[in-house]
Amino acid sequence: MKRQSIGIIIGCCILLFLTVCSFYKGPVQNRHGINTIVVDPGHGGRDPGASGAYSQEKDLTLQIGMKLGRTLQATLGPKVRVLMTRTTDIYQPVRDKAQIANDAKGDLFLCIHCNLRVFIRHRIVGYRKVAYHKNGKKLYRKVPIYHSYEVDDPDITGTETYIFTARKESEKINSVLANSDFREGQDSTREGESEDSTDTGDDVANTPEDLIKAMEWSKYYFDKSYRLATMVEDEFATQGRSRGVMQRYTGIAVLERTNMPSVLVETGYLSNRAEEDYLNSDKGQQEIAEAITRAVVRYKAEVEGKTVQQVLDSAKSIGY
Ligand SMILES: [Zn+2]
Repeated sequence: MKRQSIGIIIGCCILLFLTVCSFYKGPVQNRHGINTIVVDPGHGGRDPGASGAYSQEKDLTLQIGMKLGRTLQATLGPKVRVLMTRTTDIYQPVRDKAQIANDAKGDLFLCIHCNLRVFIRHRIVGYRKVAYHKNGKKLYRKVPIYHSYEVDDPDITGTETYIFTARKESEKINSVLANSDFREGQDSTREGESEDSTDTGDDVANTPEDLIKAMEWSKYYFDKSYRLATMVEDEFATQGRSRGVMQRYTGIAVLERTNMPSVLVETGYLSNRAEEDYLNSDKGQQEIAEAITRAVVRYKAEVEGKTVQQVLDSAKSIGY
């Protein structure tokens, strides 16, 4: 009897959930096309990122990011807005980078980084005595004292493209809730408070329908981020440089805080001297910018239901 009533309650909950879901059809496939693209050169200012033999990540991400911005703009034409989170060597907290993208209502967030592969090595620097008991007797044994240090692993090369991890989906949902248009009534004060970057939406009560919409958007962004990341790595694969699409277990804050599909491209390893040279070269930087641009064009075509040629043609036409 008791089991029966639990079954009825569960059944009612499922029915209620399905009813609410049926009112909300989920995000439309194409919100309004890919019109605003945000390029984020990683690190900057007092945050240098990884260091190679002679160069720092923050300088390379800026140089590659600027080339990417220019290549995207030249390829997609004036109808697409390409926005940089930074164009100089300045420090920005991750929250600010995400806020720039959210305030611009970006359709795509491209975060540029360089990688470093290190081994953790352990060297014995001494021994200490540790007591233990055997057959009621107190005995001692020597155990080594280790000093841990990092060593560059020069063998690893290539690109990796990261998307936000499903474990961190609640953060993405919060970003959607804090930055979405579907909460018009609750969101209307944002215009006058644009300076307030601490608004996370936590102070506003969310209706179950808001939450379902935000979960749908988060899933949509995950699918689209994965799709774009795959296209980016496909392009690098043609140059023999792809290591694949990845997720970081601990998450990547900037990807979770942006209310849009977002990817983080690790453009190469500074721990490999030849790759550091490549990342520092004009040719290498331009090749990276062009590979990512080709992926964005393919992604834009897919999202907007066009062919790649149509996207390229509409970039050339003066539509206004
Ligand atoms: Zn980095």
